[in-house]
Amino acid sequence: MVFLIYNYFYNVSGAFMNTLILDGIFQNNDVTLTDNSKTTLDYIISKIDRTLFERVILLQTGTITTVPDTVKNVVIENKTIGVILKSILKESKNSDNIVIHTSGNPFFDIQYVKTMIDRHEKYVADYTYSIGFPDFLVPQIITPNCLKNLITLCGENQEIRDDYLFYAISKDINSFDIETFISKHDLRLYRISFGTYGKPEKIFLDNLLNSISPDTTYDDLVDYLLKNQHLFYTTVYGAFFEITTVSNTEPIYYPAKNSPDVFCDPVQFDRVLVTLQTMNPHIKIIFNGRGDPLRHPDFITMVTSVIEKKLELIIETDGYCVTDNITEALNDFKENITFVIKIDAFSDETYKKIHNGYDLNIPKAAFTLLKNKGFTTYRQIVRMTCNEDDIEALLKNKDMENLILRKYSQYCGTLPDRKVVDLSPLKRFPCYHIRREISFTPDLAIQLCMYSNEKLHCTVDDAPDVYKKEFISQTKAEYRECCKNCDDYYIFNF
Ligand code: SF4
Repeated sequence: MVFLIYNYFYNVSGAFMNTLILDGIFQNNDVTLTDNSKTTLDYIISKIDRTLFERVILLQTGTITTVPDTVKNVVIENKTIGVILKSILKESKNSDNIVIHTSGNPFFDIQYVKTMIDRHEKYVADYTYSIGFPDFLVPQIITPNCLKNLITLCGENQEIRDDYLFYAISKDINSFDIETFISKHDLRLYRISFGTYGKPEKIFLDNLLNSISPDTTYDDLVDYLLKNQHLFYTTVYGAFFEITTVSNTEPIYYPAKNSPDVFCDPVQFDRVLVTLQTMNPHIKIIFNGRGDPLRHPDFITMVTSVIEKKLELIIETDGYCVTDNITEALNDFKENITFVIKIDAFSDETYKKIHNGYDLNIPKAAFTLLKNKGFTTYRQIVRMTCNEDDIEALLKNKDMENLILRKYSQYCGTLPDRKVVDLSPLKRFPCYHIRREISFTPDLAIQLCMYSNEKLHCTVDDAPDVYKKEFISQTKAEYRECCKNCDDYYIFNF
Protein backbone atom coordinates (compact mmCIF):
# COMPACT_ATOMS: atom_id res chain seq x y z
CA MET A 1 0.00 0.00 0.00
CA VAL A 2 2.74 2.39 0.95
CA PHE A 3 4.48 1.53 -2.30
CA LEU A 4 1.35 2.41 -4.32
CA ILE A 5 0.91 5.74 -2.59
CA TYR A 6 4.54 6.54 -3.24
CA ASN A 7 4.16 5.78 -6.94
CA TYR A 8 1.02 7.84 -7.12
CA PHE A 9 2.78 10.93 -5.88
CA TYR A 10 5.82 10.30 -7.99
CA ASN A 11 3.97 9.69 -11.24
CA VAL A 12 1.38 12.42 -10.92
CA SER A 13 3.76 15.18 -9.95
CA GLY A 14 6.66 13.88 -12.01
CA ALA A 15 8.90 15.24 -9.29
CA PHE A 16 11.07 13.83 -6.57
CA MET A 17 9.67 13.81 -3.07
CA ASN A 18 11.48 15.53 -0.25
CA THR A 19 11.22 15.45 3.51
CA LEU A 20 12.37 18.45 5.52
CA ILE A 21 13.85 17.51 8.89
CA LEU A 22 14.08 20.46 11.27
CA ASP A 23 16.88 19.41 13.55
CA GLY A 24 16.27 20.59 17.12
CA ILE A 25 18.31 17.85 18.77
CA PHE A 26 20.84 20.27 20.25
CA GLN A 27 18.41 23.14 20.82
CA ASN A 28 17.83 23.75 24.53
CA ASN A 29 14.56 25.69 24.34
CA ASP A 30 12.20 27.59 22.05
CA VAL A 31 14.06 30.29 20.18
CA THR A 32 12.13 33.46 19.47
CA LEU A 33 13.00 36.18 17.01
CA THR A 34 14.07 39.49 18.54
CA ASP A 35 10.57 41.01 18.58
CA ASN A 36 9.26 37.84 20.32
CA SER A 37 6.47 37.60 17.76
CA LYS A 38 7.52 34.25 16.34
CA THR A 39 9.77 31.33 17.08
CA THR A 40 12.43 30.39 14.57
CA LEU A 41 10.28 27.34 13.74
CA ASP A 42 7.27 29.55 12.90
CA TYR A 43 9.50 31.61 10.71
CA ILE A 44 10.97 28.70 8.78
CA ILE A 45 7.51 27.21 8.25
CA SER A 46 6.21 30.52 6.89
CA LYS A 47 8.90 30.44 4.22
CA ILE A 48 8.96 26.87 3.02
CA ASP A 49 7.32 25.77 -0.17
CA ARG A 50 4.94 22.91 0.67
CA THR A 51 5.01 21.71 -2.93
CA LEU A 52 8.72 21.08 -2.40
CA PHE A 53 8.37 19.15 0.87
CA GLU A 54 5.79 16.44 1.27
CA ARG A 55 6.37 16.36 5.02
CA VAL A 56 8.06 18.50 7.63
CA ILE A 57 9.37 16.89 10.81
CA LEU A 58 10.80 18.46 13.95
CA LEU A 59 13.33 16.10 15.53
CA GLN A 60 14.13 17.03 19.12
CA THR A 61 14.68 15.76 22.65
CA GLY A 62 11.64 17.42 24.26
CA THR A 63 13.15 20.83 24.95
CA ILE A 64 11.14 22.68 22.27
CA THR A 65 7.57 23.27 23.40
CA THR A 66 6.04 25.54 20.74
CA VAL A 67 5.61 23.48 17.60
CA PRO A 68 3.50 24.70 14.65
CA ASP A 69 0.50 22.47 13.79
CA THR A 70 1.82 21.73 10.33
CA VAL A 71 4.99 20.16 11.71
CA LYS A 72 5.17 16.61 13.02
CA ASN A 73 6.89 16.68 16.39
CA VAL A 74 9.21 13.70 16.97
CA VAL A 75 10.91 13.40 20.35
CA ILE A 76 13.86 11.00 20.45
CA GLU A 77 14.94 9.22 23.61
CA ASN A 78 18.66 9.99 23.42
CA LYS A 79 21.36 11.58 21.28
CA THR A 80 23.17 8.45 20.16
CA ILE A 81 23.96 8.30 16.49
CA GLY A 82 21.92 5.13 15.94
CA VAL A 83 18.76 6.68 17.39
CA ILE A 84 19.16 9.94 15.46
CA LEU A 85 19.88 8.41 12.06
CA LYS A 86 17.16 5.75 12.40
CA SER A 87 14.61 8.38 13.45
CA ILE A 88 15.42 10.51 10.41
CA LEU A 89 15.15 7.47 8.15
CA LYS A 90 11.86 6.36 9.67
CA GLU A 91 10.27 9.79 9.37
CA SER A 92 11.43 10.36 5.81
CA LYS A 93 9.39 7.29 4.74
CA ASN A 94 9.49 7.03 0.94
CA SER A 95 11.09 10.37 0.20
CA ASP A 96 13.84 10.57 -2.39
CA ASN A 97 15.72 13.28 -0.55
CA ILE A 98 15.97 14.33 3.07
CA VAL A 99 16.78 17.99 3.65
CA ILE A 100 18.10 18.67 7.15
CA HIS A 101 18.01 22.20 8.54
CA THR A 102 18.75 23.40 12.06
CA SER A 103 15.48 24.39 13.74
CA GLY A 104 16.99 27.30 15.68
CA ASN A 105 18.19 28.99 12.49
CA PRO A 106 15.52 31.23 10.90
CA PHE A 107 17.58 31.81 7.76
CA PHE A 108 16.08 29.43 5.23
CA ASP A 109 16.93 30.59 1.72
CA ILE A 110 14.35 28.65 -0.25
CA GLN A 111 15.84 29.49 -3.66
CA TYR A 112 19.26 28.32 -2.54
CA VAL A 113 17.76 25.12 -1.12
CA LYS A 114 15.93 24.47 -4.40
CA THR A 115 19.20 24.87 -6.29
CA MET A 116 20.83 22.42 -3.90
CA ILE A 117 18.04 19.88 -4.38
CA ASP A 118 18.19 20.27 -8.19
CA ARG A 119 21.91 19.63 -8.30
CA HIS A 120 21.64 16.81 -5.76
CA GLU A 121 19.13 15.07 -8.04
CA LYS A 122 20.84 15.91 -11.33
CA TYR A 123 24.12 14.33 -10.25
CA VAL A 124 22.42 11.54 -8.28
CA ALA A 125 24.34 12.53 -5.17
CA ASP A 126 24.22 10.63 -1.89
CA TYR A 127 24.95 13.72 0.15
CA THR A 128 25.02 17.45 -0.60
CA TYR A 129 26.47 20.02 1.73
CA SER A 130 28.19 23.39 1.76
CA ILE A 131 31.65 24.69 2.61
CA GLY A 132 32.74 28.13 3.75
CA PHE A 133 29.44 29.26 5.26
CA PRO A 134 28.97 29.69 9.02
CA ASP A 135 28.22 26.39 10.76
CA PHE A 136 24.61 25.18 10.46
CA LEU A 137 23.52 28.07 8.25
CA VAL A 138 22.89 26.05 5.08
CA PRO A 139 20.88 22.78 5.09
CA GLN A 140 22.33 19.42 4.09
CA ILE A 141 20.68 16.87 1.81
CA ILE A 142 20.98 13.12 2.09
CA THR A 143 19.29 10.17 0.41
CA PRO A 144 17.58 7.45 2.48
CA ASN A 145 19.94 4.84 0.99
CA CYS A 146 22.97 6.80 2.10
CA LEU A 147 21.41 7.13 5.54
CA LYS A 148 20.97 3.35 5.73
CA ASN A 149 24.66 2.91 4.93
CA LEU A 150 25.60 5.40 7.62
CA ILE A 151 23.54 3.52 10.19
CA THR A 152 25.53 0.37 9.39
CA LEU A 153 28.79 2.31 9.37
CA CYS A 154 28.31 4.13 12.67
CA GLY A 155 26.79 1.46 14.89
CA GLU A 156 24.34 2.31 17.61
CA ASN A 157 25.48 3.85 20.78
CA GLN A 158 28.05 6.50 20.19
CA GLU A 159 27.12 9.83 21.81
CA ILE A 160 27.60 12.42 19.13
CA ARG A 161 28.36 16.00 18.29
CA ASP A 162 26.15 18.56 16.62
CA ASP A 163 27.72 17.93 13.16
CA TYR A 164 26.71 14.26 13.33
CA LEU A 165 25.82 13.89 9.64
CA PHE A 166 29.16 15.06 8.29
CA TYR A 167 30.87 13.16 11.10
CA ALA A 168 29.11 9.96 9.98
CA ILE A 169 29.90 10.56 6.29
CA SER A 170 33.57 11.22 7.16
CA LYS A 171 33.91 7.66 8.44
CA ASP A 172 34.04 6.45 4.82
CA ILE A 173 33.89 9.61 2.75
CA ASN A 174 35.19 8.05 -0.48
CA SER A 175 32.26 5.64 -0.64
CA PHE A 176 29.70 8.36 -1.22
CA ASP A 177 28.86 10.65 -4.13
CA ILE A 178 29.01 14.10 -2.63
CA GLU A 179 27.97 17.44 -4.10
CA THR A 180 29.49 20.53 -2.55
CA PHE A 181 28.28 24.14 -2.56
CA ILE A 182 31.00 26.67 -1.86
CA SER A 183 30.44 30.04 -0.23
CA LYS A 184 31.76 33.02 -2.18
CA HIS A 185 33.68 34.06 0.94
CA ASP A 186 35.17 31.50 3.26
CA LEU A 187 33.89 32.34 6.75
CA ARG A 188 35.11 29.19 8.50
CA LEU A 189 37.97 31.05 10.15
CA TYR A 190 35.49 33.21 12.02
CA ARG A 191 33.91 30.24 13.79
CA ILE A 192 30.34 31.52 13.62
CA SER A 193 27.48 29.16 14.29
CA PHE A 194 23.73 29.31 13.65
CA GLY A 195 21.17 27.32 15.56
CA THR A 196 21.45 28.98 18.99
CA TYR A 197 22.86 26.08 20.97
CA GLY A 198 23.86 28.39 23.79
CA LYS A 199 23.73 31.94 25.06
CA PRO A 200 26.58 33.22 22.84
CA GLU A 201 24.85 31.98 19.69
CA LYS A 202 21.54 33.51 20.82
CA ILE A 203 23.23 36.87 21.39
CA PHE A 204 24.77 36.62 17.93
CA LEU A 205 21.41 35.79 16.33
CA ASP A 206 19.60 38.61 18.18
CA ASN A 207 22.23 41.18 17.20
CA LEU A 208 22.14 39.98 13.62
CA LEU A 209 18.35 40.11 13.40
CA ASN A 210 18.41 43.65 14.79
CA SER A 211 20.25 44.71 11.69
CA ILE A 212 19.22 42.31 8.93
CA SER A 213 16.06 40.45 7.90
CA PRO A 214 15.84 36.66 8.23
CA ASP A 215 14.68 36.74 4.59
CA THR A 216 18.22 37.62 3.52
CA THR A 217 19.70 35.15 1.03
CA TYR A 218 22.70 33.09 2.05
CA ASP A 219 24.99 34.90 -0.40
CA ASP A 220 23.90 38.33 0.85
CA LEU A 221 24.21 37.19 4.45
CA VAL A 222 27.81 36.10 3.88
CA ASP A 223 28.61 39.52 2.36
CA TYR A 224 26.93 41.24 5.28
CA LEU A 225 28.78 39.24 7.92
CA LEU A 226 32.12 39.89 6.29
CA LYS A 227 31.47 43.63 6.35
CA ASN A 228 30.05 43.62 9.89
CA GLN A 229 32.51 41.58 11.89
CA HIS A 230 31.71 43.52 15.06
CA LEU A 231 28.69 41.18 15.29
CA PHE A 232 31.00 38.23 15.94
CA TYR A 233 31.71 39.31 19.50
CA THR A 234 29.01 37.89 21.79
CA THR A 235 30.21 36.99 25.27
CA VAL A 236 32.88 34.94 27.02
CA TYR A 237 33.22 31.22 26.25
CA GLY A 238 36.22 30.40 28.43
CA ALA A 239 37.71 31.95 31.59
CA PHE A 240 41.41 31.41 32.31
CA PHE A 241 42.58 31.73 35.90
CA GLU A 242 46.17 31.69 37.05
CA ILE A 243 45.23 30.95 40.65
CA THR A 244 48.79 31.16 41.96
CA THR A 245 52.20 32.32 40.77
CA VAL A 246 53.94 29.46 42.58
CA SER A 247 55.49 27.00 40.15
CA ASN A 248 57.23 23.70 40.87
CA THR A 249 59.58 23.57 37.89
CA GLU A 250 59.48 27.01 36.19
CA PRO A 251 59.70 25.71 32.60
CA ILE A 252 61.51 27.74 29.96
CA TYR A 253 58.35 28.41 27.93
CA TYR A 254 56.93 30.80 30.53
CA PRO A 255 58.30 34.28 31.26
CA ALA A 256 60.34 34.37 34.46
CA LYS A 257 58.39 35.09 37.60
CA ASN A 258 59.18 38.60 38.79
CA SER A 259 56.72 38.96 41.65
CA PRO A 260 56.31 37.46 45.11
CA ASP A 261 54.08 34.41 45.62
CA VAL A 262 50.44 35.35 45.05
CA PHE A 263 47.36 33.22 45.74
CA CYS A 264 43.89 33.92 44.38
CA ASP A 265 41.28 34.67 47.05
CA PRO A 266 38.79 31.75 46.97
CA VAL A 267 35.82 33.85 48.15
CA GLN A 268 36.39 36.51 45.50
CA PHE A 269 36.96 33.75 42.98
CA ASP A 270 33.54 32.29 43.76
CA ARG A 271 31.90 35.70 43.23
CA VAL A 272 33.64 36.08 39.89
CA LEU A 273 32.36 32.66 38.84
CA VAL A 274 28.78 33.65 39.69
CA THR A 275 29.08 36.73 37.47
CA LEU A 276 30.70 34.81 34.64
CA GLN A 277 27.93 32.24 34.72
CA THR A 278 25.32 34.94 34.15
CA MET A 279 27.23 35.89 30.99
CA ASN A 280 27.40 32.33 29.73
CA PRO A 281 25.79 29.49 31.72
CA HIS A 282 28.12 27.00 30.03
CA ILE A 283 31.37 28.92 30.30
CA LYS A 284 34.46 26.70 30.55
CA ILE A 285 36.84 27.36 33.45
CA ILE A 286 40.56 26.76 33.07
CA PHE A 287 43.23 26.81 35.76
CA ASN A 288 46.44 27.53 33.89
CA GLY A 289 49.44 29.84 33.73
CA ARG A 290 52.99 29.69 34.95
CA GLY A 291 52.02 28.84 38.53
CA ASP A 292 50.81 25.34 39.34
CA PRO A 293 47.16 25.42 40.49
CA LEU A 294 47.69 22.52 42.88
CA ARG A 295 50.13 24.68 44.86
CA HIS A 296 47.20 26.84 45.96
CA PRO A 297 46.33 25.93 49.59
CA ASP A 298 42.58 26.26 48.77
CA PHE A 299 42.80 24.32 45.53
CA ILE A 300 40.07 21.82 46.50
CA THR A 301 37.75 24.62 47.69
CA MET A 302 38.18 26.45 44.39
CA VAL A 303 37.57 23.30 42.35
CA THR A 304 34.43 22.71 44.42
CA SER A 305 33.26 26.27 43.63
CA VAL A 306 33.47 25.51 39.93
CA ILE A 307 31.90 22.06 40.00
CA GLU A 308 29.03 23.07 42.32
CA LYS A 309 27.95 25.46 39.59
CA LYS A 310 27.88 22.54 37.15
CA LEU A 311 30.66 24.09 35.10
CA GLU A 312 33.42 22.19 33.35
CA LEU A 313 36.95 22.64 34.66
CA ILE A 314 40.26 22.08 32.91
CA ILE A 315 43.32 21.92 35.16
CA GLU A 316 46.77 22.36 33.64
CA THR A 317 49.46 21.10 35.98
CA ASP A 318 53.07 19.91 36.01
CA GLY A 319 51.83 16.92 38.01
CA TYR A 320 54.17 17.36 41.00
CA CYS A 321 51.32 17.72 43.51
CA VAL A 322 49.05 15.02 42.07
CA THR A 323 48.70 12.50 44.89
CA ASP A 324 46.25 9.83 46.07
CA ASN A 325 44.83 12.41 48.49
CA ILE A 326 44.07 14.80 45.63
CA THR A 327 42.41 12.14 43.48
CA GLU A 328 40.29 11.02 46.45
CA ALA A 329 39.25 14.59 47.24
CA LEU A 330 38.21 15.13 43.61
CA ASN A 331 36.71 11.70 43.08
CA ASP A 332 33.08 12.89 43.04
CA PHE A 333 33.89 15.61 40.50
CA LYS A 334 35.68 13.53 37.92
CA GLU A 335 32.90 13.80 35.31
CA ASN A 336 33.47 17.56 35.10
CA ILE A 337 37.25 17.79 35.36
CA THR A 338 39.87 17.37 32.66
CA PHE A 339 43.54 17.28 33.63
CA VAL A 340 46.33 18.38 31.32
CA ILE A 341 49.78 17.24 32.48
CA LYS A 342 52.80 19.14 31.19
CA ILE A 343 55.21 16.39 30.14
CA ASP A 344 56.93 18.32 27.31
CA ALA A 345 59.40 15.57 26.41
CA PHE A 346 59.96 11.91 25.62
CA SER A 347 63.39 11.70 27.21
CA ASP A 348 64.29 12.72 30.73
CA GLU A 349 67.28 14.61 29.32
CA THR A 350 65.07 16.95 27.28
CA TYR A 351 62.61 17.31 30.14
CA LYS A 352 65.43 18.40 32.43
CA LYS A 353 66.45 21.11 29.93
CA ILE A 354 62.92 22.46 29.79
CA HIS A 355 62.02 22.04 33.47
CA ASN A 356 65.16 23.17 35.26
CA GLY A 357 66.62 19.74 35.97
CA TYR A 358 63.44 18.17 37.33
CA ASP A 359 62.38 14.57 36.79
CA LEU A 360 60.11 13.43 33.92
CA ASN A 361 59.02 10.38 35.92
CA ILE A 362 56.94 12.60 38.20
CA PRO A 363 54.52 14.02 35.57
CA LYS A 364 54.44 10.57 33.93
CA ALA A 365 53.38 9.00 37.23
CA ALA A 366 50.77 11.76 37.73
CA PHE A 367 49.31 11.00 34.29
CA THR A 368 49.12 7.28 35.06
CA LEU A 369 47.57 7.85 38.49
CA LEU A 370 44.87 10.18 37.16
CA LYS A 371 44.07 7.85 34.26
CA ASN A 372 43.83 4.86 36.57
CA LYS A 373 41.50 6.77 38.87
CA GLY A 374 39.19 7.47 35.95
CA PHE A 375 39.92 11.16 35.31
CA THR A 376 39.95 12.46 31.74
CA THR A 377 43.64 13.25 31.39
CA TYR A 378 45.88 14.50 28.59
CA ARG A 379 49.62 14.94 28.30
CA GLN A 380 50.79 18.23 26.87
CA ILE A 381 53.93 19.09 24.95
CA VAL A 382 54.76 22.70 24.18
CA ARG A 383 56.38 22.28 20.79
CA MET A 384 59.85 23.87 20.56
CA THR A 385 63.07 23.31 18.64
CA CYS A 386 64.56 21.64 21.73
CA ASN A 387 61.90 18.89 21.95
CA GLU A 388 61.12 18.30 18.26
CA ASP A 389 63.13 15.04 18.29
CA ASP A 390 61.15 13.94 21.34
CA ILE A 391 57.90 14.41 19.46
CA GLU A 392 59.36 12.26 16.65
CA ALA A 393 60.26 9.63 19.24
CA LEU A 394 56.72 9.60 20.63
CA LEU A 395 55.43 9.22 17.09
CA LYS A 396 57.79 6.34 16.34
CA ASN A 397 56.81 4.63 19.59
CA LYS A 398 53.13 5.07 18.70
CA ASP A 399 52.78 6.93 21.98
CA MET A 400 50.51 9.73 20.77
CA GLU A 401 47.36 8.78 22.67
CA ASN A 402 45.90 11.59 24.79
CA LEU A 403 48.68 13.90 23.65
CA ILE A 404 48.21 17.62 23.05
CA LEU A 405 50.84 19.48 21.02
CA ARG A 406 50.68 23.09 22.04
CA LYS A 407 52.06 26.05 20.14
CA TYR A 408 55.02 27.79 21.71
CA SER A 409 54.33 31.44 22.56
CA GLN A 410 56.87 34.23 22.84
CA TYR A 411 54.54 36.07 25.21
CA CYS A 412 54.54 39.25 23.12
CA GLY A 413 58.30 39.19 22.55
CA THR A 414 59.25 38.43 26.17
CA LEU A 415 60.76 35.03 25.29
CA PRO A 416 63.20 34.01 22.52
CA ASP A 417 61.92 32.47 19.31
CA ARG A 418 61.89 28.68 19.80
CA LYS A 419 59.12 27.75 17.42
CA VAL A 420 59.63 24.92 14.95
CA VAL A 421 57.26 26.04 12.20
CA ASP A 422 55.28 29.15 11.43
CA LEU A 423 51.65 28.17 10.92
CA SER A 424 50.28 31.73 10.91
CA PRO A 425 47.47 32.31 8.39
CA LEU A 426 48.46 34.30 5.30
CA LYS A 427 45.98 37.02 6.16
CA ARG A 428 45.57 38.26 9.70
CA PHE A 429 42.15 38.25 11.34
CA PRO A 430 40.91 39.46 14.75
CA CYS A 431 42.24 37.53 17.71
CA TYR A 432 40.26 34.53 18.95
CA HIS A 433 41.41 35.13 22.53
CA ILE A 434 39.85 38.55 22.93
CA ARG A 435 36.74 37.44 21.11
CA ARG A 436 35.99 34.37 23.24
CA GLU A 437 38.03 34.42 26.44
CA ILE A 438 38.63 36.29 29.65
CA SER A 439 41.92 35.99 31.49
CA PHE A 440 42.59 36.58 35.20
CA THR A 441 45.80 37.12 37.14
CA PRO A 442 46.09 35.58 40.65
CA ASP A 443 44.81 38.81 42.23
CA LEU A 444 41.78 38.54 39.91
CA ALA A 445 42.73 41.49 37.75
CA ILE A 446 41.59 41.05 34.16
CA GLN A 447 44.32 41.04 31.55
CA LEU A 448 44.08 41.31 27.78
CA CYS A 449 44.85 37.62 27.26
CA MET A 450 46.96 34.88 28.79
CA TYR A 451 49.98 35.95 26.70
CA SER A 452 49.98 39.66 27.45
CA ASN A 453 50.30 41.18 30.90
CA GLU A 454 48.41 44.33 29.90
CA LYS A 455 45.59 44.92 32.37
CA LEU A 456 42.15 45.96 31.17
CA HIS A 457 41.30 47.89 34.37
CA CYS A 458 37.65 46.91 34.34
CA THR A 459 35.21 44.94 36.48
CA VAL A 460 34.08 41.45 35.50
CA ASP A 461 30.65 42.89 34.63
CA ASP A 462 32.22 45.38 32.24
CA ALA A 463 34.71 42.94 30.73
CA PRO A 464 32.59 41.80 27.73
CA ASP A 465 32.13 45.43 26.63
CA VAL A 466 35.84 46.10 27.01
CA TYR A 467 36.80 42.95 25.11
CA LYS A 468 34.25 43.82 22.45
CA LYS A 469 35.91 47.22 21.93
CA GLU A 470 39.29 45.50 21.64
CA PHE A 471 37.82 43.06 19.16
CA ILE A 472 36.21 45.79 17.05
CA SER A 473 39.54 47.65 16.93
CA GLN A 474 41.17 44.51 15.57
CA THR A 475 38.45 44.11 12.90
CA LYS A 476 39.73 47.50 11.66
CA ALA A 477 43.35 46.29 11.83
CA GLU A 478 44.03 48.59 14.79
CA TYR A 479 46.25 46.74 17.25
CA ARG A 480 47.78 47.40 20.63
CA GLU A 481 51.58 47.34 20.60
CA CYS A 482 51.65 43.90 22.23
CA CYS A 483 49.30 42.51 19.57
CA LYS A 484 51.07 43.91 16.52
CA ASN A 485 53.62 41.13 16.08
CA CYS A 486 51.80 38.48 18.08
CA ASP A 487 51.25 35.14 16.38
CA ASP A 488 48.97 33.64 19.04
CA TYR A 489 45.82 35.29 17.68
CA TYR A 490 44.84 32.31 15.52
CA ILE A 491 45.13 29.66 18.25
CA PHE A 492 41.83 28.86 19.87
CA ASN A 493 40.72 26.88 22.84
CA PHE A 494 36.94 27.28 22.81
S1 SF4 B 1 46.81 39.35 19.47
FE1 SF4 B 1 48.16 38.21 20.84
S2 SF4 B 1 48.63 39.63 22.51
FE2 SF4 B 1 46.88 40.46 21.41
S3 SF4 B 1 45.12 39.70 22.53
FE3 SF4 B 1 45.52 38.24 20.89
S4 SF4 B 1 46.83 36.68 21.77
FE4 SF4 B 1 46.86 38.44 23.13
